[in-house]
Amino acid sequence: MLEVIEPATERTLATVRRAGVEEADAAVARARAAYPAWRAVAPADRARLLGRIADVVAEHAEELAVLEARNAGKPISDARGEMGMVADVFRYYAGAPERLLGDTIPVTGGHAFTVREPLGVVGLIVPWNFPLVIAAWKLGPALAAGNTVVLKPAELTPLTALRFAELVLEAGLPEGVVNVVAGPGSTVGRRLVEHPDVAKIAFTGSTEVGRAIAAGAAETIKRVTLELGGKSANVVFADADLDAAAAAAPGAVFGNAGQDCCARSRILVEARALDDFMAALEPAVRAVRVGDPLDESTEMGPLISAGQREAVASFVPDDAPVAVRGSAPAGPGYWFAPTVLCPVGPADRAVREEIFGPVVAVLPFRDEDEAIALANDTIYGLSGSIWTRDGARALRVARAIETGVLSVNSNTSVRVSTPFGGFKQSGYGRELGPHALDAYTEVKSIYYAVP
Ligand code: NDP
Repeated sequence: MLEVIEPATERTLATVRRAGVEEADAAVARARAAYPAWRAVAPADRARLLGRIADVVAEHAEELAVLEARNAGKPISDARGEMGMVADVFRYYAGAPERLLGDTIPVTGGHAFTVREPLGVVGLIVPWNFPLVIAAWKLGPALAAGNTVVLKPAELTPLTALRFAELVLEAGLPEGVVNVVAGPGSTVGRRLVEHPDVAKIAFTGSTEVGRAIAAGAAETIKRVTLELGGKSANVVFADADLDAAAAAAPGAVFGNAGQDCCARSRILVEARALDDFMAALEPAVRAVRVGDPLDESTEMGPLISAGQREAVASFVPDDAPVAVRGSAPAGPGYWFAPTVLCPVGPADRAVREEIFGPVVAVLPFRDEDEAIALANDTIYGLSGSIWTRDGARALRVARAIETGVLSVNSNTSVRVSTPFGGFKQSGYGRELGPHALDAYTEVKSIYYAVP
């Protein structure tokens, strides 16, 4: 059995059956059996069913939000936002089955055209930081394109995925189209990667596991999309609205207790504005309300586990240059206070590695060229922000930074209708928006001879 822990209390929240390789194989077999009928569902009917999933999720949004808030330790207001996004993702991709367009291509002696075919059974492996919403980013386009799926949630946070599997049946989806297998990555996850009947793996998680998945998938030439780690830079120029940049910076790195692949865990500030920026940042960090995830006013909850807290604490040894430290509750729960490190150098561990906790490093830069060089001095390339009032500079820097997602005078990264994904070792493939469908379909070229 698998004991699911509530990170805010360290108590058992639920006990569920721990699946193994046999259950993974059975789920793949169910998905394979359901595939021919699901891909044959008329596009308008598949669209209607995806719309029903959105409705059923919206009807159960509060129940799902409380479950997610308790299991992942995230503030209830964040969890509600995530469930709203889950419903929005299915509503958005409900528009896709009837819009999977192909091309006609002029050729000699007949007609050539392309169609988009589904892949078959797709394995979805997701992490614990945004359990259901990251699953939805994969489920929406996968199902819209006519694939069937096996979803493996993280062992730490399986509860919303298991409930979702019940809700899709309530929405009218045929049995076997969505299968959820709650078991360890080392057995269930690996089996999905190796299984000859799984056509593709869509993965979100650590770069290390992503590397192993890409290597394992090579054996069967599986399609793979990877959303991996990040070390995003929040670049603040002296001509920016410094108060706005400083007020927004804590949310950009302490949101979800820093357990966010888009966390802006490096703040790069133009040297002549550093003192003013730090003066504005300090009260904003101290104001972050850390506490019970179910309290409506909470802005940051605990970390996911004791192990994660230990990993995050290793970035703040006793002699660390702590410039600001916020507050955190004492007692049970995996709490860690929001922490700002300054001064730090470009070679420091907190500047180079993904921390995945509420710790941020602040570095000064001299000019635009140095800002770009520092922002790009990382193996990752997921997200980032640029704060400036100079429009031309904003566009120059946005084009020069090697990441998949950027925002100017804002720290947002994810929208249902725009593509999301990384450069460099942050992964490959795009989720959300129109581009995600490319990763769940194959292009087929058909030539019809006309004598
Ligand atoms: P992992 O990458 O280990 O886990 C992500 C998912 O992959 C989980 O469902 C996990 O299963 C599964 N998994 C683990 N090993 C394998 C494998 N060999 N084959 C197939 N699937 C596998 O992340 P962690 O939970 O260990 O977190 C460690 C670090 O990863 C974090 O500190 C953070 O730096 C980074 N991370 C980044 C995320 C992102 O959004 N980019 C998300 C999560 C973590 P299970 O956990 O059930 O065993």
